[in-house]
Amino acid sequence: MAKKELLKVEGLKQYFPIKGGMMGRTINHVKAVDDISFTIYEGETVSIVGESGCGKSTTGRAILRLEEPTEGAVTFNGLELTSLSKREMRKQRKDLQIIFQDPYASINPRQTVADILDEAMAIQKVLPPKERRTRIIELLETVGLNEYQADRYPHEFSGGQRQRIGIARALSVNPKLIICDEAVSALDVSIQAQVLNLLKDLQKEFKLTYLFISHDLGVVRHISDRVIVMYVGKIVEIGDKYSIFENPKHPYTKALLSAIPVPDPTREKKHIVLTGDVPSPIDPPTGCRFHTRCPFAQEKCKIDVPALRTHESMIDGHKAACHYVEEIENGELRVKGFEEAVF
Ligand code: SF4
Repeated sequence: MAKKELLKVEGLKQYFPIKGGMMGRTINHVKAVDDISFTIYEGETVSIVGESGCGKSTTGRAILRLEEPTEGAVTFNGLELTSLSKREMRKQRKDLQIIFQDPYASINPRQTVADILDEAMAIQKVLPPKERRTRIIELLETVGLNEYQADRYPHEFSGGQRQRIGIARALSVNPKLIICDEAVSALDVSIQAQVLNLLKDLQKEFKLTYLFISHDLGVVRHISDRVIVMYVGKIVEIGDKYSIFENPKHPYTKALLSAIPVPDPTREKKHIVLTGDVPSPIDPPTGCRFHTRCPFAQEKCKIDVPALRTHESMIDGHKAACHYVEEIENGELRVKGFEEAVF
C-alpha cells in the first residue's frame, strides 16, 4: 500500500536577524535552518539528529510556526501551513502537537494536572465541558498516571511523571503528528526507556506520527523509522534507520556514529575525533559546510555546495550531501582511522 504523505517541508529557511549599530538595523542573520526539504509519511517516526546548534529544534518550531519561517513551504495533510493566517494556524495546532524537553517550563505551575488538560481541550473545543473530566482520567491512565493525581500540581511530580503529563496534554486534542523536541533528554536512562516505550505504544494505539528531535543517537536508534542528520542548518544525510546506522555515507554521520558506545566489551571501537569547532551559522563555510572539519575535504568542497542525493552505492531513499561518497566508499580517498571505526 502506498504511504500517505503527512508532512512535506520544502526549501525551509529560518533566518534570525542580528541587529546592530545606532539605528538598530539588521546587520546580519543567523541562518539557523537553510533550505531544507523532507517528507514524513503517516504513522512513521522520523528523527532529526545533530550537534547542538545544527538547526534541529528550530526546524520543529518553524514547522509549527512558533517561529515564522523566513522562506519555504510546510504542507500538512494537504494544507499549506505557511500560507495560513495566525487564526487558521491556531486551529491546525490541534493536529500538530509538541512535547518539549522540560514540560515544566511550558505548563502553568499554578494549574492542577486536570486544569492543564482541560484547558488544552477547551481551547481546541475537543469535548463539551461535562465530558472532559472522564477524558482527563482516561488520558492519565493512558500515560501511566492515576485518577487521584488529577488534582495535584506539577511540582508534586517527578521529571518522568511530568513528561507523561506533557504527553497526556499533547494527546488530549487527538493530534496526528507530535513533534518531540528532546522530549526524553532530561530523564534518567531507565525513565527514558519507559517514556520511549510509552511513545511507541501510543503510536500504535492512536496511529500517531512523530518527528523526534534529539542529539542522542541511542534514543534515535531506538525510536526511529527514518533519520535526518543535520549540520549547521543543512541536511547532510537522510535515510531509513538501517541505512544511517549500518551504512552511513556522509563523513559527518560516520563521525557522529563512531561516538556511540558498543555494548559488546569484546569489540574495540575507534572514535573519530573531529578537529575544529562547529562553524557559526552567522557566517557558515562556503561550499560544503562540513569542509572545515572534514578529513576528506578537497578543493571542490570549499567551492561547490554538494547536493543531497542518492549515490551509486546507496539504496533508494538514502541520500547524502557529499561530493565524494563513491571515492570514500571504494578507498580512492582514504583517511587513517575512518576505516577502523565500527558502525
Ligand atoms: Fe567532506 Fe567534501 Fe564530502 Fe563535504 S563534500 S563531506 S568536505 S568530502
